[in-house]
Amino acid sequence: MTADHVEPPPGRAPRPPARSRSGAAGSTFLGLPGAPRDVGQVRQERSFRAAARDALADDQLRRNLRRATGTIRDRRANVVHEVPDWAQLRAAGAAIKDDVLANLDTYLVRLEEQVTARGGQVHWARDAVEANEIVTGLVLAAGASEVVKVKSMATQEIGLNEALERAGVAAWETDLAELIVQLGHDRPSHILVPAIHRNRTEIRDIFAAEMGAAGRAPDPGLTDDPAALAETARLHLREKFLRAEVAVSGANFAVAETGTIAVLESEGNGRMCLTLPRVLITVMGLEKIVPTWRDLEVFLQLLPRSSTGERMNPYTSTWAGVTPGDGPREFHLVLLDNGRTATLADPDGRAALRCIRCSACLNVCPVYERTGGHAYGSVYPGPIGAVLSPQLTGVADNPDLPFASTLCGACLDVCPVAIDIPSMLVHLRSRVVDAKDARHPVPTPEAAAMRTLAWVMRDPRRWSWALRTGTFGRFLGVPGRRRLRRLPPPLSAWTSSRDLPKPPRESFRDWWARYGPVSAGPGEPGGSDG
Ligand code: SF4
Repeated sequence: MTADHVEPPPGRAPRPPARSRSGAAGSTFLGLPGAPRDVGQVRQERSFRAAARDALADDQLRRNLRRATGTIRDRRANVVHEVPDWAQLRAAGAAIKDDVLANLDTYLVRLEEQVTARGGQVHWARDAVEANEIVTGLVLAAGASEVVKVKSMATQEIGLNEALERAGVAAWETDLAELIVQLGHDRPSHILVPAIHRNRTEIRDIFAAEMGAAGRAPDPGLTDDPAALAETARLHLREKFLRAEVAVSGANFAVAETGTIAVLESEGNGRMCLTLPRVLITVMGLEKIVPTWRDLEVFLQLLPRSSTGERMNPYTSTWAGVTPGDGPREFHLVLLDNGRTATLADPDGRAALRCIRCSACLNVCPVYERTGGHAYGSVYPGPIGAVLSPQLTGVADNPDLPFASTLCGACLDVCPVAIDIPSMLVHLRSRVVDAKDARHPVPTPEAAAMRTLAWVMRDPRRWSWALRTGTFGRFLGVPGRRRLRRLPPPLSAWTSSRDLPKPPRESFRDWWARYGPVSAGPGEPGGSDG
């Protein structure tokens, strides 16, 4: 098979050649591309509710999650609190990202110019299918039948491993947690710690059962001692690093000013990938740009503290283009859209593109801590996944993710780039409802009840009348002030998981009418000292 004859993925017709500024034939695309169906990991296969119910029944999973998220949460809190200007750093991070999003066209072109000037090639992928075609074509053109990968969420988003496998290319994950996920035929469940749902005994069992078929087998007497597990993975991966001709990486940041790509990691496996193979291919979401080196300084402080709870990452690798006699001889940068432009087009949703994938919001989220990442059905789990995935695919394809939240606000408090996830969730919920209404010209009973309620509450006179006539009081159990355990359909779903408060004896409006304003005395709240 050659680069020109890559099989299309399931459900897709053959496409025209990808647009590449590096010289390939092009086609004109008008519109905002979303993440295509049947490829990649950014869509729910089951509803969140059903998947979460299964996860909640798994005691071991919940124990693993509670321990892991609690540990990372505490470490983060300690290192964040020791930075006196954390609030300013956070504001700077948000401002830099907003500038990038507002001027993305300019920065992307600048990045392309700089990468090209330093001997790299830039490829533009409008979606997952196109990105997979580009990468597969490059790997086959290099004559490789296997690649090593450094942890990359973008390649999981597009389903690159599966695309490479269809083309006869084996892709080996080299991040330890990703290796565990791959050998376990599993899916990542956390942005930073993809195997967070596994404990060390499970990891030992996976290594013992699967590692031999994928390369160097572990010692027969392998224990679940963390050092022994790490050494086993190291020996297994070392063979692959020394053999691989092609590496595929993600990117944490790309500096438009210099064409520099930055990867932050903890194990050093990434650095092996980035330096040993002859060809390096980086797949990067187009929002990962920072304008200048100076801007990178802000994120190199925000990211490690927010993600691993460290003051700096153990390994920070940066490179620009190619350097003769040092590192890869070919460098390709694939800039991935896959729904990002569509996300950018929504003024109330675009701040999700500020995300630097630190995972702090996952570790504080009470929903994530109980369900884990698989329930979200996307490579992006937790609060950020609940706002990013529906925007990449369109809300119709991930309709219940915006509801997978208590709106407690903990995610906003810890986010190093101040993404207001709770407001965005509410906004996306309204888009889900609007989309549902558009599909059902005849309103559902729930929609009809809510519309009636909204109509009454919009007007003070209507609302007073409803209270006076007892319309809502009767509905809620007044005058007998019985506590209703369950509301009747269509609102019964609401009370199936919540307590309905006992209605008060009298409404606030009636109380106010009887007592009127009470003037506070001097020195009391609301009182005047003057
Ligand atoms: S939304 Fe904020 S806290 Fe969550 S992963 Fe992204 S940057 Fe981190």
